[in-house]
Amino acid sequence: MFDYKMDAHMHFDLYNDRQAVIDYITAQKSYTIAVTNLPDIYKRYIGKYDNNPYLRIALGFHPELCTKYANQLSLFKALCDTTRYIGEIGLDYSNTSDHDKQFQKRIFDSILNYCTGNNKILSIHSRKAETDILSSLKDFEGKVILHWYTGSLSNIDISIDRGYYFSINHQMIKSKTGKKIIAQIPVNRILLESDAPFTAGMQEKYSTNFTDYIYTYISSIYNQDTDTVKKRIKANFMEILT
Ligand SMILES: [Zn+2]
Repeated sequence: MFDYKMDAHMHFDLYNDRQAVIDYITAQKSYTIAVTNLPDIYKRYIGKYDNNPYLRIALGFHPELCTKYANQLSLFKALCDTTRYIGEIGLDYSNTSDHDKQFQKRIFDSILNYCTGNNKILSIHSRKAETDILSSLKDFEGKVILHWYTGSLSNIDISIDRGYYFSINHQMIKSKTGKKIIAQIPVNRILLESDAPFTAGMQEKYSTNFTDYIYTYISSIYNQDTDTVKKRIKANFMEILT
């Protein structure tokens, strides 16, 4: 009755055998937000999985692709009403020229403008750009999930004050800074994600095994039993979805 599998950020469309991934998610009863990287990719899946209670496809516009595919912004706008789930969107300032940073920000701000006040759930990429992400989000109305956050600890506190959630993955647990970040996030704001296929063990085949690994880790840092942690984190996901 209480299933603890979840994945708040994964890319099912990047697997060759997408149907096998979907069948697996369904069999696992794993609540999943499948993000996309471009509006024309999202468009292929509209309505296709509406009967699947576990899978939600998100409309995305990845910051690293938005300069090249800027002409898809109008498609993004046109498709915005077809889903509550928006991602992967955001900013990526690693290896980016000032011109591209400004361009990414313009696209991101337009997306927020389309989505604010419309009951959306955003999954946001913020690599080396979380300060600008927070300033763009200042007046945004809706639910915010910061995915694979790698920024400063002080910006975590600001995000928590604003009611944002963080989706964390198994790879973050393998690094010192990742561990520090996880320790800074209150348990009632944590969600789990795989960011498959980009994380360890996910390249060839999708699996939900990462969830147990993270639950065990969080139980150990808070000295709580795993079941309590599982219930709490599952409740966070339900909170986001309602
Ligand atoms: Zn991703």
